Amino acid sequence: MDDNCPPKKRPLTVERVATANLPTKVGEFRIAGYRSLNSREEFVVLFKGDMERHVPTLVRIHSQCLTGDVFGSIKCDCGPQLHKAMEMIEEAGRGAIVYQQQEGRGIGIVNKIRAYALQDEGADTVEANEQLGFAADAREYQQCAEILFDMGLCEVRVMSNNPDKLSALEEAGLRIVERVPIEVQAKQPAAHYLRTKKEKLGHLLDFND
Ligand SMILES: [Zn+2]
Repeated sequence: MDDNCPPKKRPLTVERVATANLPTKVGEFRIAGYRSLNSREEFVVLFKGDMERHVPTLVRIHSQCLTGDVFGSIKCDCGPQLHKAMEMIEEAGRGAIVYQQQEGRGIGIVNKIRAYALQDEGADTVEANEQLGFAADAREYQQCAEILFDMGLCEVRVMSNNPDKLSALEEAGLRIVERVPIEVQAKQPAAHYLRTKKEKLGHLLDFND
């Protein structure tokens, strides 16, 4: 086994502050709180089972979506994806979800609501961000990868449809042994959003019109 995982040269820019038990409707999990050492960003990791470097382990980088995760919005598929990931980890007996607080692909909740207002007038999700002067996707994943290293992981099975996330994790030094598709039944208002994600952001979604 090559031993350069995690990459030795780069010091971690995140630190774990606390870990606790978190019983959920889906099952028993552990929850860890991380903070960035170079910004005010905080991260949460929901995980289960032993984290071992050379055991390919299910992971998801989930970007916070207040409207979908908390309020059950059906404009997007974030809430069902999060819960599906928890169920898959529960079933596998091990895995980790890094919950990254980059709401609205990094633009923040209030700007996301501004973008939703533009969407009410006919813009799609990418056009709306651009009309507000934001990149279509402003997220960064380096520290999420560092958190996975700190958790003790190197070989991962990534639950994601987003090729940008996959290549960012790989560039950070994680070994992606598998991409595990995570597809959920989308309700009608999400269909247009998902088509935009597929066509404009390159997401690997497989759905029929
Ligand atoms: Zn969402």
